[in-house]
Parts: sequence; structure tokens; C-alpha cells
Amino acid sequence: MSIAVQFQQVSRHYDQVKAVDDISLDIAEGEFFSMLGPSGSGKTTSLRLIAGFEQPSSGSIRIFGQEAAGLPPNLRAVNTVFQDYALFPHMSVLDNVAYGLMIKGVAKAERHRQAEAMLDMVKLGAYGSRRPAALSGGQRQRVALARALILQPRVLLLDEPLGALDLKLREAMQTELKALQRRLGITFVYVTHDQGEAMSMSDRVAVFNKGRIEQVDAPQALYNRPATAFVADFVGGANVFGQALASRLFAQPQAFAVRPERIRPAGQLDGDVMTVEGRLIDIQYLGATSRYEIDIAGEKTMAMVLPNAEGAAQWQAPVGEVLTVAWPRAAIHPVAE
Ligand code: ADP
Ligand code: MG
Repeated sequence: MSIAVQFQQVSRHYDQVKAVDDISLDIAEGEFFSMLGPSGSGKTTSLRLIAGFEQPSSGSIRIFGQEAAGLPPNLRAVNTVFQDYALFPHMSVLDNVAYGLMIKGVAKAERHRQAEAMLDMVKLGAYGSRRPAALSGGQRQRVALARALILQPRVLLLDEPLGALDLKLREAMQTELKALQRRLGITFVYVTHDQGEAMSMSDRVAVFNKGRIEQVDAPQALYNRPATAFVADFVGGANVFGQALASRLFAQPQAFAVRPERIRPAGQLDGDVMTVEGRLIDIQYLGATSRYEIDIAGEKTMAMVLPNAEGAAQWQAPVGEVLTVAWPRAAIHPVAE
């Protein structure tokens, strides 16, 4: 498989701010690749570097093997869907979608034909004559998608494209985007701060922190084998015990993480388990599960998540109670701090 986008030791610094700091990365052709991280971690800057709206301070970016330095955005085989959609309010939906073709000098009849096909593809065939203001948020999002895809980019860059949508619509669009990407077979580079979004759609995810990449892996591997304390916490909210606490409480030589859903009240587990005592400080009812926050020695709040399956014996403890919780020793992940 060929490499669509390659970063070789790429940095983008703004004075003291290391927005992107020595990133090396290969994105394969046809991959649904996500850049996941908290606000300010360098995701948008990385995307803008691929698009050509920013230049690296050092390092090199290749797009399908070609050095990108000096290539203006319109000569790169990529196109971008922005978070705010950036639609033209005074143009019809059809003209918005056809815009890129107009700039390229494609005749009106032909660009309208192609724009209509694009609108059909994103299920907006009947909306071409409307203005963007007369569409819902989800529909505007699809117009932005159609407008970016009409130029047939080999790589589509998406910067938090679902950020403005409510949860239900966002979930529906996640399914649609993934299906569209499969159908078109092009490379998607998808930026998000939402771990659920990244995990549900992506072939691989790069986890960003402070301008650096902490780990690049398939969703299951990120979840089951987090490399660092940051990844363990950011993806799936694991309980991380730093080296000092790990050695004091558990005689473990190394920092480790354990998932909230692997933890149980001590009486419910047999075999080779690790146990710790703590004080229950909060219970959150979440529908399918309940989340218990437990204070460990005044130094750490750890989370335990229990299923609320119908008919299951409910475990009850009042807030304030001191209790012992446990998890299988095999459930811990050693992590770098
Ligand atoms: P993200 O998209 O992950 O939220 P960004 O890539 O937008 O992060 O920003 C990374 C860091 O770089 C932030 O600290 C941000 O303030 C800084 N930054 C981004 N663009 C500029 C700029 N044009 N000038 C100065 N600092 C910037
Ligand atoms: Mg951003």
C-alpha cells in the first residue's frame, strides 16, 4: 500500500509555542486516519500543514511521495472540510458545491451536473436551490462535504466537522462519513477531540499531546495497550497509578493503568487480584452503567464502572463508606509516564 501523507520530523513553532513538535508519521492510502487530542495539542496545525495553509518550521511533508514544500494548497491532491463549514451565504447550495469547479473554469452546465451528482451522494438532491441559511446544521455539514469532494481530492482533510451538531445527529453522521469513505476509497484525515468519534470511525488514531504524538494505533490497540499514562487516561479514562503510588500501594515497580470497567467490589472477584481500600465519594447513574468515584488515600480519585443490567444483583454502598475494590492483575497495563 502506498503512503498518502508522510511527516518526517515536522515542527511548526510560533515563537515560543511548539504547536507541532517533531512529528513523524505515515498515513496509508485509503486509510481513515484520525488525529485525536485535547484543545491546543496541535491537530489543526498538522492538518493545515498538509493542506499547505502553513509551512513547517523544520522537517518535511510528502504527499503521495512528492515533497510538499513550495506547493500551494490548490496544487496539492487534498481538500479540506472546515469546522464552521465556510459556506458562501449568498450563493445557492448548488453553486456552493460547484464553486471549486467554477474557479477551475469548468462550464456552467457541466459543473451543475457534477454538483447535482454530489448533492445526490450526500442525500441533498432536492436542496440545490436553497441558501445555506435555509438548511439544518447537519445538512450544511453535508454541503461542505460535497463541496470538498467535487474536486476529487485523493485525501480529504476534516477538522472537527461534526463539532456543531447535537449528539444524535453526530452519531448518524459518523456512520455516514465512514460509509462514504469506504465507498469512495479515498484517504480521510480526521481531526477531533472526541475519543468516541475517533475510535468509532478510524482505521488508526494518532493521539496528540502538546504538539507531539504519544501513540499511533488501531482503536482496539489504543484501548487495550495504551503506551503512555496520557493515552490511557485520554482514551477511555483509565485509572493511572504513577510509579510512586504504584510501588507504595501495590509493590509494583512501574506506573500502570486499569480500566474502570475492570474494577469490582472486592468480594466479587477470585483468582490473582489486586485490591485497594478507598472511600466512596460519588455515584453517577449513567443508564446502562453506574460510575463510582473512590478516593484512594487522599491522593487519587479512581473510577469503578458497574453494569446496571436488568436482574443483575445490585451492589449498594452509601457515599462516604470505606470499601475495598479489586481488579484482576492481568487487567493492568504498564504505561510510561
Ligand atoms: P488543536 O487544533 O489541537 O486545538 P492547534 O493546532 O490549533 O491545536 O494549536 C496548537 C497550539 O499552537 C496552540 O497553543 C495554539 O494557540 C498555537 N497556535 C496555533 N496557531 C497559531 C498561530 N497562528 N500563532 C500563534 N500560535 C498558534
Ligand atoms: Mg483545532
